[in-house]
Amino acid sequence: MAGCVVSQVRISEIFHSLQGESRTVGFPTAFIRLTGCPLRCQYCDTTYAFSGGELLSIATILEQIAPFQSRFVTVTGGEPLAQPECLPLLTALCDAGYQVSLETSGAMNIAGVDPRVSVVMDLKTPDSGEAHRNLYSNIELLKPVDQVKFVICSRQDYQWARMKLDEYQLSQRVDDVLFSPSHQQINPTDLADWIVQDRLPVRFQIQLHKLLWADGPGR
Ligand code: SF4
Repeated sequence: MAGCVVSQVRISEIFHSLQGESRTVGFPTAFIRLTGCPLRCQYCDTTYAFSGGELLSIATILEQIAPFQSRFVTVTGGEPLAQPECLPLLTALCDAGYQVSLETSGAMNIAGVDPRVSVVMDLKTPDSGEAHRNLYSNIELLKPVDQVKFVICSRQDYQWARMKLDEYQLSQRVDDVLFSPSHQQINPTDLADWIVQDRLPVRFQIQLHKLLWADGPGR
């Protein structure tokens, strides 16, 4: 029909797996990975999603995840919010009755995200190489059901994350602040010990999917 535009989203992959991190870790989850990211974190494990992919309508995406029969859907990337069509996709997923989470780098404005979505927002640490991209104005927009994640590469990163936790009172803003060791860059036991010693009100997490399946598309 003339004038009728169907929203399309560029998708790297759609797959069914266990949630490897965040509050719903361990639950079978449908993952929708959007193509493209304006950042280049040194530890990025999804560089294959920087380009390529396939343009799909929102209706097609809904059709593709339906057979998974999953209560949980995670929209990830890349950086999903780099595509404006991510916003109507999130709303359509919520309307369809899914419990939706969005993994975002913290570099894009989260203001337009459907309030039913649990936003899992990174704050990039200095050793990621992308700390200058953090959009701190997002912090005001966080809801209690959202989550803030620090991927920690070093003791210096840990100290920086502690400082941000305090500066922005993050554990009062959101139910879960996540401290995650960067894979093979820091001893996870050290990070766990520091959190306990310093009595930090944060949740330690290790990426479950890496322990189970290592890296790669579809995990
Ligand atoms: S924001 Fe995420 S997808 Fe983008 S470079 Fe960093 S780790 Fe990779």
